[in-house]
Order: sequence, then C-alpha cells, then structure tokens
Amino acid sequence: MDEIRSGLSEVHCDVLVIGGGTAGPMAAIKARKKDPKANVILLEKANVKRSGAISMGMDGLNNSVIPGYATPEQYTKEITIANDGIVDQAPVYKYAQNCFSIIQELDSYGIRFQKNQNGDFDVKKVHHIGTYVLPMPNGETVKKALYRQLRRERVLISNRFMATRLLTGKDGRVAGAICVNTRSAEFLVIRAKAVILCMGAAGRLGLPTSGYLFGTYENAANSGDGYAMAYHAGAGLANLECYQINPLIKDYNGPSCAYVAGPFGGYTANNEGNRFIECDYWSGQMMQEFYNELQSGKGPVFLKLNHLAPETVSEIERVLHIVERPTRGRFHANRGTDYKETMIEMHISEIGFCSGHSASGVYVDEFARTTVPGLYAAGDMASVPHNYMLGAFTNGAVAGEHAVDFVKEVNFADYDPAAITAEQERVLAPTKREDGIPPNQIEYKIRRLVNDYLQPPKVTRKMELAQKRFAEVRDDLNTAMYARDSHELMRALETQSIIDCADMAAAASLFRTESRWGLYHNRVEYPGRDDENWFCHSILTKGADGKPSLTKKEIAPYIIEIEEHERDAYYKQRIHASEAAE
Ligand SMILES: Cc1cc2nc3c(=O)[nH]c(=O)nc-3n(C[C@H](O)[C@H](O)[C@H](O)COP(=O)(O)OP(=O)(O)OC[C@H]3O[C@@H](n4cnc5c(N)ncnc54)[C@H](O)[C@@H]3O)c2cc1C
Repeated sequence: MDEIRSGLSEVHCDVLVIGGGTAGPMAAIKARKKDPKANVILLEKANVKRSGAISMGMDGLNNSVIPGYATPEQYTKEITIANDGIVDQAPVYKYAQNCFSIIQELDSYGIRFQKNQNGDFDVKKVHHIGTYVLPMPNGETVKKALYRQLRRERVLISNRFMATRLLTGKDGRVAGAICVNTRSAEFLVIRAKAVILCMGAAGRLGLPTSGYLFGTYENAANSGDGYAMAYHAGAGLANLECYQINPLIKDYNGPSCAYVAGPFGGYTANNEGNRFIECDYWSGQMMQEFYNELQSGKGPVFLKLNHLAPETVSEIERVLHIVERPTRGRFHANRGTDYKETMIEMHISEIGFCSGHSASGVYVDEFARTTVPGLYAAGDMASVPHNYMLGAFTNGAVAGEHAVDFVKEVNFADYDPAAITAEQERVLAPTKREDGIPPNQIEYKIRRLVNDYLQPPKVTRKMELAQKRFAEVRDDLNTAMYARDSHELMRALETQSIIDCADMAAAASLFRTESRWGLYHNRVEYPGRDDENWFCHSILTKGADGKPSLTKKEIAPYIIEIEEHERDAYYKQRIHASEAAE
C-alpha cells in the first residue's frame, strides 16, 4: 500500500468540482440538477462520505437569513460592518437572498433544523445586531444526506485524488486540473470547460500551541491547496492580510463554542468570571478585545457556563459533545473539567486563511467567478466574508448553476502539454532523492516561523525576517525534501501549498500599511484605520518574477447604504467595569 507507481491517464468533463466537503457537493448537485446531461466530476483528496469541515457534523447554521427574523438587507449591512466596510456587497446580498431556499432544500434532504412549538425555525441571536443562528439538532447527519443527493444526481466522484495545479489555455481560460492519486502517486489529468474550486480554508498555516501539525481547528486536509492553485493559475486573491484567528478551547483547539452556549446564557469571561465583551460573534475586533484582556493580566479567558442550571448545562453538553466534535466530551472528561463546576479555558488560535470566519480568499463576484475565465471558487476559500457553512452551500450552488450554463458556450481550452511534464517533475521530485528531509519536518519549520513572525500584532521587521526565513526553507523544500511513499508525497505537496500561503500572508500584510479588522490585521507601526488610503481591497496575484504582487482594488459601490453612526458598531464591543457592575 502507498507504493509509488507510475501512470498517467486523462479524462474529460464539462464541470470539474475540486473539494468534496461542503460547497463542492452542493456545486456538483446543482450543476447536475440544472443540466442532467452535463458531465460533472467531483474530485476529493479524502473520501466525499466523510471529508471537510463538516465531516463529523455541525452544530447549526451560523448565518441563516430567515424571513421573520432577518432580511437580506439587514444581513448585508451587518456583514459589511463586521468586516470593517471592506466588502463587495453583491455576493453577500445574493447569498442573503438565496440562503433561505437552500435551508429549505437541506431540510428536504433530511437535515432537520430546530423548530419552535409553532413549527417555525427557532433562530437564535449571536451576532452584534441581527438574529441568524439556526441550531441543527441532528447535524451529525449532514454528510450522509449530501452523499445520498450526490448518488441520486449521478455525480461522478473521484475520491483519493489530490489536485495539484490547474491547467490554463493560451487565452488564459481554465483548461482543467492535474491530480495525483494519494495511494499510488499515479497522475490524472482532467480536462474541463469549467472548474469550481471548493478546497476549504488554509488551516495548516500557523502551528497550534499544542505543537501538533494536525491539531488544527480546521479540517487538517485543508492545507491551502486551493489558495496556492488559484495563485499559480493567475487568479487574484483578496485581503489575505485579514487572517482567521479564533477563540478556541486551550490545548483542544476546537470551538468553545459560544454560538451554541450563548443563547442558553453562556458567555466569554475573564479569570474573575466577568464578562468583558458584549457579543461573542467572532470578528477581528472581538479577537482584539480577547487579546487585550490577556495582556491586561485578567487572562486566561474562559467560556463560562457554571452559573447556569445543571439541566441547561446538560442540554449544552448534549450538542457540544455529540454533533460537531464528539472528541470534545472525552477531552474534558479526561481532564476532569466539569462544565457545571469549572469555567472552560480558551486561548487565541494560530493564524489561517478562511473567508468562512473572516474574509481572506480567492476574489469572486456574485456568480462565484474568479478573475480567471471558467474558474469559479466557493466556500471558505472564496472571498465572500463571514460565509460559514450556509455560505459554502449557497455559493457552491451559485457556482454550480452558473458554470453549467457557461460550459454550453465554450469548448475545451487548449493547454500546453509541457505543463503536464513540468508538473510531473515538480510533484515527483521528493521521490527521486535517495535521502533528505521528511515533509513533516519542513512543515513544522514553516509553521513555527509563521507563529514567530506573522502572528499579530504584526511588526514590519518580523514580517521581513519571515520572508527571508521562508526563502531559506523553500530552498530546502526544493532541493532536499524527501518522500518515501505516496502518502508522504501528499504531505510533501501540502507543504508546498503551506509555504505558498505563508509567503502570501507576509506579502499581503506588509502591503496594507494601516490596522484594520481588529487583531486580524493589527500593525504595530500603523495603528488605526486609514480610510483615506486603505478603504479598498488588496489583491494579490503571482508577479512576473514568480513572487506575490499586490495592487489596490476599489470597493464596489454599496447596494445597501451604511449610515455614518452604524459603521463602528463592531468597535463598541468592550464592556467597561462600570457597566459590568450594573
Ligand atoms: C471546527 C469547525 C466548526 C464549525 N462550526 C460551524 C457551525 O457550527 N456553523 C456554521 O455555519 N459553520 C461552522 N463552521 C464553518 C463551516 O464548516 C465551513 O465554513 C464550511 O464547511 C466550509 O466549506 P468548504 O466547502 O469551503 O470547505 P470544506 O467543507 O472543508 O471542504 C474542503 C474539501 O476540499 C478537500 N480538498 C482540500 N484540498 C484538496 C485538494 N488538493 N484536492 C482535492 N480535494 C481537496 C478537503 O479534503 C475537503 O473535503 C465550522 C468550521 C469548523 C472547522
């Protein structure tokens, strides 16, 4: 098993969807539903049955826009404010308009959502302004339900294939992808008229404080391959300096999760047991307040449930210990942490890229189109901010439906066959050496350097040093990385995506000479927002020298106006001592 075999096959399809987690299955299902004659392939590095962020299940929809609770206009306004104004509203507004029908569709698949006694959706308030969180009492069934739909729509599924590079035609249009079998290292070239990237967050960028390479918050298979592939294909990536940083359970690195506990009366507290933030909705400013509390000597920070009635705590445990991460209950049982007695220690996570929770992603418009013709992106790797699971489903659907129409207008783009030979050489290089440095050591080094030099608060000199160190590691990676079998080869390829993401994170952070998004882009030498110069996207592309190149892009005119007094709502998070005492 896992021996390295040589082999190269080629297949064709109309629409290739890469990543079978959340957005990917929905993109494939919707493409087939819209045009049952279309040839749609869903390619997955792991197995579609249990892959991606939702592999074990999910506690709820964090951002549902349900009539009677919220309107698309309200939601668009809230996300614009939560993301410090740096938002093209069209994709957010479109999501907000479409997501209710996706909830109804998911409901029809058998994924039940919490309803009240009247049979209406039982939506909870967690965000700063509106009410959007919809619990999923049987959220552990979500993957099974999706899989049934994939079978029903006869989507062609290719498991255990890792996409490594996109192919592009001479006219710049996408032409397909090159993939490697993770069990045999054989190559598969998939020619496609349209490609939809749904490869999730870059979740293995920083190193968790536990030191475990795979002890990440994100699904650990999401190593940023999608970001790297889009970059090498010439796509623009937006606002990568807006990192993902989360408040997580210390040492466990999973969500704590105030979204579930908040509606029951749980909250984030300091070591005195006092509340210090008004709202537990994850935002850069919330993370900044968390950081400030730690710096003030009032840390650690905790999730506080021990003031609640024992029956209420049991109800919270029933969700948190079963649905999303069943290991959580065991982790705390082994530590002897009883939620009824003790507060749950949290910490600040390592950095990553993820639009699902922040904003950094491959730039897309309201049809999920990237800047490369025929190339789409959806879910955590596309630039629609605060997207979460329902955003992945909804925008995956948008991508699938648009792509299946697009392919009717075009033929296959011609690519240069030399691109395949070059990619085979790049991929197999670590297998051609007699000895060398294993991928896990190179990965550890990159991610430790990410923590040392890129973790906010960001300091210019540190980020410049990071770039130097990354260049040295890249040299080792190119000349000395060594893979013994096809499994290690996959790790070696992931390491190459991780170093690409690390370089992009440093370059984007150095470009934006202001502070924005709270802790996510807190630059010590440039405190405060500079709207005059930086009320814009930063767009990163691959420069002619093969290195990240950055430009500014105007924010598209707002569809929903934001009043002057509303703009800073997320900046008013801190509860002051006088208020806490009231
Ligand atoms: C721990 C955790 C808890 C969360 N809780 C909630 C919640 O309660 N509510 C909510 O609304 N949202 C929640 N989210 C967010 C939500 O789960 C994500 O936003 C959403 O699932 C992302 O979907 P996606 O399709 O972009 O990525 P994923 O579902 O992660 O799918 C990406 C897929 O791409 C595959 N892949 C990666 N690289 C390659 C490659 N090179 N070749 C082939 N395949 C590849 C991966 O194996 C994976 O299957 C949570 C996220 C996490 C991590």
